[in-house]
Amino acid sequence: MYAAFCRSSVSFQAKLLGKSNLRFASTLVFVESTKDGKIAQSSLSALSAASQLGNPVAALLAGSASGKAAEELQKNPGSASLQQIFVAEEHAYDHYFAEKVTPLTLELLKDPEYTHFVVAGSAVGKSILPRLGALLDYQPICDITKIVDATTFVRPIYAGNALATVKCSQDKKLISVRASSFPVTAGEASTASISKAPPVSQVSELAVKWEGENLVKSARPDLGSASKVVSGGRGLKNKETFDSLVTPLADSLGAAIGATRAAVDSGFCDNSLQIGQTGKVVAPDLYIGLGISGAIQHLAGMKDSKVIVAINNDQDAPIFQVADYGLIGDLNEIVPELTAKLSQIK
Ligand SMILES: Cc1cc2nc3c(=O)[nH]c(=O)nc-3n(C[C@H](O)[C@H](O)[C@H](O)COP(=O)(O)OP(=O)(O)OC[C@H]3O[C@@H](n4cnc5c(N)ncnc54)[C@H](O)[C@@H]3O)c2cc1C
Repeated sequence: MYAAFCRSSVSFQAKLLGKSNLRFASTLVFVESTKDGKIAQSSLSALSAASQLGNPVAALLAGSASGKAAEELQKNPGSASLQQIFVAEEHAYDHYFAEKVTPLTLELLKDPEYTHFVVAGSAVGKSILPRLGALLDYQPICDITKIVDATTFVRPIYAGNALATVKCSQDKKLISVRASSFPVTAGEASTASISKAPPVSQVSELAVKWEGENLVKSARPDLGSASKVVSGGRGLKNKETFDSLVTPLADSLGAAIGATRAAVDSGFCDNSLQIGQTGKVVAPDLYIGLGISGAIQHLAGMKDSKVIVAINNDQDAPIFQVADYGLIGDLNEIVPELTAKLSQIK
């Protein structure tokens, strides 16, 4: 365990909340939703983390689908700690441009009642949080995996090789959470009221424009939240082998497909499948790695998986140090046999 302390500005130390003021403490959570008003799984994890802080929780939703998403959030089992839902149902907030969402969030955070701001460590969270930190002159605490108490948080450092326990004395804690570390808990739906978020002047005039998107469509489970992941590495040698071995095995398990950076860089698959320090972080119930050596940068993205299975022809491959089950041998022989047996069970 590694201990670190985050900076707190002298002016804010002077204003630190005393114990008697803590009853006013509140947490604001930024909640992302899809275009059709569904709440992002990672934001439900952020809400789950926020509820552990023990404060009343308010949610902020933005964009044209946020009205529908707010109603869904209200009904969502497990939102019991939510007391207030703010909605900025404006087209200007679609696509969550940090340049537009940050001033909106800031408007609410001006209220001294908010002692914590929580957002998922998603692409959106990663772009909002530093801006908020800069504008408020606070140090954000990124990618937390555990809440010890309302001022103390655990976060991985050095590609997950050490854990820093961060004690924060700022009067506003700006936090992003690693979704896989905060499972969404079922419970009662909330009785939160929905109200309009405060208006922000000139938001639609900011010089940032959405040009378009090119999305990879897949019927597979989302890699970030899948309960099973089959992942391929450089040991697969080429794209043809990747497609002919990884895809059928994933199909037989109903699993998402992942890959190492070496596999992505070699053109075996799309870079949206990369798992690791510079890719996605996954923590499925089952992770199967095919032809993956187990470099620390890859382990950083999958070592919290519940059961890890590795197939590799090198018995000294580092992945076997974290694997629960290891198959030493040629993946070209093992994987088709495994896939055939799994298909028979189905
Ligand atoms: C700053 C930085 C960030 C990085 N970020 C990431 C990241 O996010 N994600 C990531 O994955 N990597 C990342 N990397 C790269 C990382 O260091 C490794 O290079 C990469 O993970 C190796 O991928 P690999 O295991 O597929 O390939 P290799 O290390 O080449 O391993 C291939 C394995 O396949 C086995 N093999 C070969 N043939 C067979 C066969 N026929 N049957 C069975 N096994 C076989 C070999 O024994 C070997 O163990 C990063 C590196 C840096 C410097």
